[in-house]
Amino acid sequence: MEAVRRRLPSPRAIAICVAMVAVPGLPWLHARSERIAVEDRAAAVASEATGRPIRVRCPGPIRRRLLYEITEGSVRFDADGVPSDDTRLSARTCDGLRTVLDHAATLRFACLATGCGGAEARAAEALAVLTHETMHLRGTMDEARTECLARAHVAWVAERLGVAPEAAQAVARWQATTWQVMLPDQYRGGVC
Ligand SMILES: [Zn+2]
Repeated sequence: MEAVRRRLPSPRAIAICVAMVAVPGLPWLHARSERIAVEDRAAAVASEATGRPIRVRCPGPIRRRLLYEITEGSVRFDADGVPSDDTRLSARTCDGLRTVLDHAATLRFACLATGCGGAEARAAEALAVLTHETMHLRGTMDEARTECLARAHVAWVAERLGVAPEAAQAVARWQATTWQVMLPDQYRGGVC
């Protein structure tokens, strides 16, 4: 009877096995690193604006599929009106921030004056939302006052994320006009 020789798998077979395991995980790993990059850049801006370490959270793949989001961003306040040190952003907002990070140098936001759709509009909306939540994190709870402060700071936030000064001003003008009209009543007409 012929002895069965136990052989180690060849390096090529090992390589194929590794590839079979790794390839399905690549898009997941890529999405995860992209999400973390958005969270880290947004957190750096929010931390600078608030003067304390802030964590920004974007939804992962499971939350993206399972959660119906009714808000684009949120900050929790305790019973004494003190904000937490983190904010949760919607998938739409995080995707918009991704567009800002990827194309900041070429984003002009000129179409905002006449109404633009697609990625550029979502990028502007994401800047507005991140700035709004950052103003909450600075301690303002009232929505109208928070949005007023956001209108005053959105150009600064946009520039911190790489947007050119002129384009950042275009976002500020749009947030003070078109965007404000689209918001629910409690967000409008605030003074700050
Ligand atoms: Zn708010």
